Amino acid sequence: MRPVIKPALARLWREKQTLQFGTVRRHARVIEGVDRRLAGFLELVDGSRDGPAVVAAGQRLGLSAEYCRAVLDSLGSSELLDDAQALRDVLELYPPARRELLGPDLASLSLVHPAPGEAAAVLQGRARARVEVRGAGRIGAAVGAALAAGGIGEVAVLDRGRVTARDCAPGGLPPGDIGRLRATAARELVHRATGAPVGERYRRPPAAPPPPALVVLAPRDGSAAYTGAAVDAQELMRAGIPHLYTGVLEHLGVVGPLVVPGASACGSCATLARRDEDEAWPRLLAQLIDEGPGRARLPACDGAVAAAVAGLAALHVQLYLDGSPPPSVDGWCELSAADGMVRRLRLRSHPDCGCLWQSSAPGRTGTMA
Ligand SMILES: [Zn+2]
Repeated sequence: MRPVIKPALARLWREKQTLQFGTVRRHARVIEGVDRRLAGFLELVDGSRDGPAVVAAGQRLGLSAEYCRAVLDSLGSSELLDDAQALRDVLELYPPARRELLGPDLASLSLVHPAPGEAAAVLQGRARARVEVRGAGRIGAAVGAALAAGGIGEVAVLDRGRVTARDCAPGGLPPGDIGRLRATAARELVHRATGAPVGERYRRPPAAPPPPALVVLAPRDGSAAYTGAAVDAQELMRAGIPHLYTGVLEHLGVVGPLVVPGASACGSCATLARRDEDEAWPRLLAQLIDEGPGRARLPACDGAVAAAVAGLAALHVQLYLDGSPPPSVDGWCELSAADGMVRRLRLRSHPDCGCLWQSSAPGRTGTMA
C-alpha cells in the first residue's frame, strides 16, 4: 500500500494550526496542532512511497517513527487515506485515453467507498461488467454514454431502425446522426464516451457475449414508465437478470423500479398495484404497448428532463453494480417537468404476483405508498 491523502478533499486552514480536509460534512475531518513539521509530514503522504518509506521520510524531518506511524493510523481511521498503488493499478485496466477521463470518477468513488483500496475494487467491478441498454432514444442513448464514461467495461445499446429528430438530445445522439442506423449511431456514441480517439475503429465484442450484469429498459416511446408494458421483462425475470425501467412519459421522467428478480418488487407488481387503484388499467395498458392504437401521436419529452433522467438512471445502475442498492429497488423516482422536483415512491411486492421467491418477508403487502 502506498498511502495518499485523498486528493479529492480540499485542504483548508481553519486557524494557524488547525487543518480541515474536505468541505462536505460527511467527509470533512479536522486535524489540530499541525505545526510546520507535521504539515511537512502530511505533504509526504502523496502516494509516491509505501508506508515504511513515508515513516523514514518523516524521521528525516525530525519526527519519531512512532509518531509518524500514529499519524498514519489516525489518517487511516479518519478515512482520509487511499492506496495510490491500487488506484493506479485499476486505471491500467483501461486504455490510456480512458484513464485520465476516469480520474474524477475514481476520486468520487474514493470518497463514497472510504477504506484504502475499496474504490479501486469497485471500479474493477465496473470494468468487468457488461450492461445492455434496450432503446436508443433520448434516454437510452444518453444512459449508455453515461455508463461507458463511468467505467462500465462493456455497454451495448440495442435498437432498430434509423435515428429521427425525436431521438436526439444533449448527452445522447446528436442531430447529425439523423437518418443513420440507431444501433450504429448509439455504438459510436458509447465508444466516443470512453475517450476513444476520433477515427479509431470500434472493435466488435465477441459474437456470443456473456449475459449482462443488468439490462436498462428504455424504449423510445417512454412506455417503460408503465412497467407492465415491457415485453422483455418476463424473459429477464426467467433468466434472473436485474433490470431497470426508465423513460419520460408525458411530463414525467421515471427511474425505476430496478428489479432484482426474486428479491425485489417487479414491473408486474407495479402494474397490479395500479390495477388495484384503477380496474381498467390492464385494458388501457393493452392499448399502449407495442405501439398500440392508444399511444400518443407525438410523445412528449422535455430535453432537460430527459438529460436528468438519463443521468439518474445511470447513477442507479452504477450504485447497484457497486454494491449499494439504489432507491429504485422496491420503488421508483419521478422527476416532473412541471415543478422540477424529484420524488421517490415506494413499491411493494404484490401478493398476486408471486415474484419474490427469494423473499423471507411473508408480511409484505401489495400496496404503494
Ligand atoms: Zn412482482
